[in-house]
Amino acid sequence: MNEKTDVIIIGAGPVGLFAIFELGLLNISCHVIDNLDKPGGQCAELYPDKPIYDIPSRISITGQELTNDLIAQAKPFKPVYHLNQQVQKITKLETNEWLVETSINKKIQSKCLVIAGGAGSFVPRKIPLQNIDHLEGKNIFYSIRDKSKFKGGKLLIAGGGDSALDWTNELSKIADVTLIHRRKEFKAAPDSVSKMLKLEKEKKIIFSIGQIQNIEELKNEKIKVIVKNDKEAKNYEVDFLLPFFGLKMELGPIADWGLNLDKNLIKVDTEKFETSEPSIFAIGDINIYPGKLKLILSGFHEAALMAQECFKYCFPDKKNVFRYTTSSKDLHKKLNST
Ligand SMILES: Cc1cc2nc3c(=O)[nH]c(=O)nc-3n(C[C@H](O)[C@H](O)[C@H](O)COP(=O)(O)OP(=O)(O)OC[C@H]3O[C@@H](n4cnc5c(N)ncnc54)[C@H](O)[C@@H]3O)c2cc1C
Repeated sequence: MNEKTDVIIIGAGPVGLFAIFELGLLNISCHVIDNLDKPGGQCAELYPDKPIYDIPSRISITGQELTNDLIAQAKPFKPVYHLNQQVQKITKLETNEWLVETSINKKIQSKCLVIAGGAGSFVPRKIPLQNIDHLEGKNIFYSIRDKSKFKGGKLLIAGGGDSALDWTNELSKIADVTLIHRRKEFKAAPDSVSKMLKLEKEKKIIFSIGQIQNIEELKNEKIKVIVKNDKEAKNYEVDFLLPFFGLKMELGPIADWGLNLDKNLIKVDTEKFETSEPSIFAIGDINIYPGKLKLILSGFHEAALMAQECFKYCFPDKKNVFRYTTSSKDLHKKLNST
């Protein structure tokens, strides 16, 4: 049986998060799907510590603070988050509902879809080598869903950012870890770097400077990773290679859903923010219309109008009575603010 909800929001960036709230005010339930391992989109991924100055009434708020507040604001409406998975396929059912399928084969059914996908999915930068795709998910992992998979294994971790250092420190507790990075300076938080250097000093991990030159598949289920630096080339025979080279944004599967696109952005009307496909909406950075400003506050406005139209699809027999949050008793009950 597929999971069912009123609305599926694709993208848990600031605009997707605020959409949960606006839909919730109208008693519309949501599931939210994001490729990343946490909500917040660009705010949480690209500038968590930077202050934003143009969120109405907030004189200054960091990307992470805004994310935390939006999650808290949406919480009373009990959204269901599905993280670490990309929406790959959407299908219209005979009932006029939508079936959404994700990269980990999760299937969810809803009356409306709200695409709040920003500039697309954040996806990992991959090793620039040919013919290694078939090793992904077997020997090569660009993200970690379940660390127990690596227990007792021989691991080569590559990279110098937070993910590489955090996973080196964490996985050294359960596996035999070597970290490689192209230079001895790191971009990761100083505390993580200190922890890693301490582990190296105690001989609990190996750190080596170098870059991946080649990868060969071996018969014993392992791989041979050839790593080069100025002086030498070294071979590492390992069970798993975990490259953490940062993330990039890619429109991804959204381009294949038959929607009316303009330069990789989804065309919408400005009354309902509906796409060329009835009951699919696009809000936030992913949409385009005359005068569009790619700002968080524009996305918030778009979410409010989208929700009004979603109500018609979700409750075709009900009248949507406009209510202020200040004066609606039943909303207060829900928001715990009586
Ligand atoms: C450095 C920087 C500073 C900025 N400063 C400001 C500022 O001061 N004020 C301001 O208003 N704006 C600012 N912006 C812009 C602002 O961050 C964006 O307008 C905002 O993040 C858009 O929100 P969104 O929810 O539409 O998309 P995003 O934040 O991009 O989130 C989209 C989410 O959708 C997910 N996604 C996409 N496709 C899929 C899929 N198929 N399956 C699953 N998940 C998917 C992505 O992984 C992502 O998490 C700044 C941007 C940057 C980069």
